[in-house]
Amino acid sequence: MVGGTTPGDETRSRVRGAIPHGGPGLRVAIVGAGPAGFFAAAALLKEGAQVDLYERLPAPFGLVRYGVAPDHQKIKRVASAFDKIARSPGLRYFGNVEVGRDVGLEELRAHYDQVLVTIGAASDRRLGVPGEDLAGSVSAVSVVGWYNGHPDFPSAPPLDGRRAVVVGLGNVALDVARVLIRHPRELEPTDIDDDALLALRRSKVREVVLLGRRGPVEAAFDLGELQDLTRLVGVEVGVDAAPGELEAALTGAELDSATAAKVAFIAGLPRADALTGRRRVLLRFLASPRELRGDAEGRVRQLEIEHNELQGPPGAARARGTGRTSTLAADLVIRAIGYRAVPLPELPFDAARAVVPNEGGRVLRDDGEVEPGLYVAGWIKRGPTGLIGTNKGCALQTVQAMLEDAARGSFVREGGPGAIDELLAARGVRVVDYDDWLRIDAAELEAGRARGRARVKTRSTEELLEWLETPPRTSQRAAR
Ligand SMILES: Cc1cc2nc3c(=O)[nH]c(=O)nc-3n(C[C@H](O)[C@H](O)[C@H](O)COP(=O)(O)OP(=O)(O)OC[C@H]3O[C@@H](n4cnc5c(N)ncnc54)[C@H](O)[C@@H]3O)c2cc1C
Repeated sequence: MVGGTTPGDETRSRVRGAIPHGGPGLRVAIVGAGPAGFFAAAALLKEGAQVDLYERLPAPFGLVRYGVAPDHQKIKRVASAFDKIARSPGLRYFGNVEVGRDVGLEELRAHYDQVLVTIGAASDRRLGVPGEDLAGSVSAVSVVGWYNGHPDFPSAPPLDGRRAVVVGLGNVALDVARVLIRHPRELEPTDIDDDALLALRRSKVREVVLLGRRGPVEAAFDLGELQDLTRLVGVEVGVDAAPGELEAALTGAELDSATAAKVAFIAGLPRADALTGRRRVLLRFLASPRELRGDAEGRVRQLEIEHNELQGPPGAARARGTGRTSTLAADLVIRAIGYRAVPLPELPFDAARAVVPNEGGRVLRDDGEVEPGLYVAGWIKRGPTGLIGTNKGCALQTVQAMLEDAARGSFVREGGPGAIDELLAARGVRVVDYDDWLRIDAAELEAGRARGRARVKTRSTEELLEWLETPPRTSQRAAR
């Protein structure tokens, strides 16, 4: 549907020129209703701008709904702050509209003074080793999406074997390990996807090995996340290291207090051979996967790893293969070595860094010049790192640039306010507006209450759209 003529051309009014104070009267489209999109929307609304928020899924909130682990319900509560923003009179929510599929970026730009892209990073980084595509070798992106009920990831990872290996030592790796190993009874009160909960009840996984290419000093996870893992009922956490290996990795290290505390905690964990419990997590440092090997059915069963040594100053040290290898049995291999942004048609993309080239949020063209009226914020701007709150400063920097540009009058708008709605309607796009979302939200919460769970999600977009057509359309907004 990208490209082509724009229905509603006849209704277009061409508006050009300066907006007196940057904010009031400014019409902005934000693409992506995750944290970056909401933080930016709040800042723009405060300045009197009109914001239309486009989201490819019916449900808003991005990784707050579909990334943050279900047993981190407190963190998910940030969604209530985003909900308040969404209810502002100056904001319209266009859920179930994928930019690049239902409407082109250039088409959108023709209808707004400015377009801000906050689409996050939807894909994963690959290991790049033989056997990576065997059955049972999956990405953390897909596992996280699966247990959080994301419509793109309906398939369960195979949980019929005893040992899962998670490659990576960041917070996402720890999230995945925790959800796989903790007793499913403890996940029941959360908003974990129903099918995922059932599959985890039946899961045979009893050991998760977390594999890091570097040492404890360089491990990216936060100490708090590791401590949470050690507090799980019926789960033991230990370190799988050869005698002297950890000590050698720490020699001569001068560490900041946070890293020192993390390293001391790791050093105090029991060694693998001292563990006796039925469920366990093992941290294994200084090892990189070199090959995944499968059985006759093409299912992963073994990982060949190369042992590494560190080169360079602690914290910034690089892992260098020693040539020494060994094998590790694995019934499931999950790569958790980072998310990766995917390009959006008609938007410049730096494939090497997997971000949109930008200067403080202003999108840069291939020739290095600023593309007027086009901006980025969040993970698509700076890469897939940082907590939810990190996106606030990032979004504010971009909004500052947008307001400065608007005050200078560098914008062009062609479509009138209703033209974009007409365009989507003419294409048969079923826009999920915020009242629709509030009905879905209320139904999910109600289903959760009935079963002692935080909420019960519906994964399938088709089912949600069908459901929206059936019950009476009483407005949740009017009811509140
Ligand atoms: C597994 C995981 C766990 C995390 N846990 C925590 C945690 O516990 N605490 C914490 O503070 N942070 C956590 N984070 C980090 C936090 O989620 C991110 O910092 C934040 O979500 C990034 O915000 P964003 O808006 O850039 O991207 P996203 O949250 O990814 O939002 C992007 C939105 O854009 C939409 N979109 C994409 N393409 C299009 C398109 N073409 N058209 C329209 N819409 C589109 C997507 O559907 C999505 O809703 C976690 C991240 C991950 C991956």
